[in-house]
Amino acid sequence: MSYEKSKALFEKASNHLVGGVNSPVRAFKSVGGTPLFIDKGEGAYITDADNNRYIDFVGSYGPLILGHNNPIVHEAIVKALEKGTTFGASTENEIVLAELVKEAFPSIEKVRFVNSGTEAVMSAVRLARAFTKRNKIIKFAGCYHGHSDFLLAAAGSGLLTLSLPGSAGVPETVVADTIIVPYNDINAVAQAFEKYKNEIAAVLIEPVPGNMGLVLPENDFLQKLRELTSANNILLIFDEVMSGFRQCFGGAQTYYNINPDITCLGKIIGGGMPVGAYGARAEIMDMVAPLGPVYQAGTLSGNPIAMAAGIATLRLLKDKNIYKHINSVTALLADGIRNIAQENHIKIQVAVFGSMITPFFNDHKVTDYETAIKSDTEKFARFFWTLIHNGIYPPPSQFETWFVSAQHTEADVQTTLKAFQSAVNS
Ligand SMILES: *Cc1c(COP(=O)(O)O)cnc(C)c1O
Repeated sequence: MSYEKSKALFEKASNHLVGGVNSPVRAFKSVGGTPLFIDKGEGAYITDADNNRYIDFVGSYGPLILGHNNPIVHEAIVKALEKGTTFGASTENEIVLAELVKEAFPSIEKVRFVNSGTEAVMSAVRLARAFTKRNKIIKFAGCYHGHSDFLLAAAGSGLLTLSLPGSAGVPETVVADTIIVPYNDINAVAQAFEKYKNEIAAVLIEPVPGNMGLVLPENDFLQKLRELTSANNILLIFDEVMSGFRQCFGGAQTYYNINPDITCLGKIIGGGMPVGAYGARAEIMDMVAPLGPVYQAGTLSGNPIAMAAGIATLRLLKDKNIYKHINSVTALLADGIRNIAQENHIKIQVAVFGSMITPFFNDHKVTDYETAIKSDTEKFARFFWTLIHNGIYPPPSQFETWFVSAQHTEADVQTTLKAFQSAVNS
């Protein structure tokens, strides 16, 4: 396999784009080497600039649950495009997509569409603060909610230490109201509630975190979180930008049967076009402009092309057989990896949620950020490159979730497992 064209393009890109990319993980920093440039995608496959073909487990980091270039989504985009790209006025399809979102998420009565997950969560927190007239936000270590300043906070170890900014350029004052606690630790949440009584607006969580690799909620953690927030009149915000429509026609809230106060969506609901959304019951959403005092706007919000792609995607996802297929193919992959690991005495912890999967090179079960970062990232990097050389394209970081699409087949899983076995042997 040659990677010469990708290498040349990356070199050229580096003269014009920061680090040669427009989003940092694409630079392959955590696995070394040069990133691949992708030419095209079809179904479960992508082809790079050197004409190497891969089974793709990135799926553009989440949106492409139907695989690349789904013909029905493609047609919907083309049809919308023929009418123009954007009007800065309302179009009927915004209602149609809102209805589909509400059908899937009964906790939502009204929706606002934005252009990214980042915008959705940033706006949801603004809304929660306005609704409760409080400022503090609880966030969980290792959960990612986009790159708005006050959510780029990483905690020092231990409970309730002052939040430190997770990025240069974020003043400490901006993250001063962001309280970080460990995921899956309900006692830490209770202690924070006690310490900051009547100051906390909302608990913000990825109900099934996928941004430290995939981590699952333990026991009744989410249920307890719902009870505790309700008892303290604190809003519960589920960031389902990644987990939404991932396991069923709904979200983690559907699977775990929990009604959050505000839900954030993105990725899948745009069918591969830039989109985000936040929604809640009317009492909360009606605080947003033009009805209420919470300002939030967007030149391209509710963009016709994105709406069309989202509608086509969600309509297809209403077919339960799709989830049956994706979830079983993903489970097959998980079992296969576990078997290979066991037979070869390598410690791999495999987490699965619907079509999301992360193999952690870790001796112990991963339950939060602290345990996730104990994973062997060097071993992951070695596996990554062997998989690439065998025509498999996993995410280029131990801490990104792999995504299986409706187009992946059992045969693709077998090919992937063969490559995994080669990685073990090499
Ligand atoms: C991807 C993601 C975001 C950010 O979405 P963008 O569209 O990249 O801004 C926010 N929250 C979660 C849980 C995500 O996975």
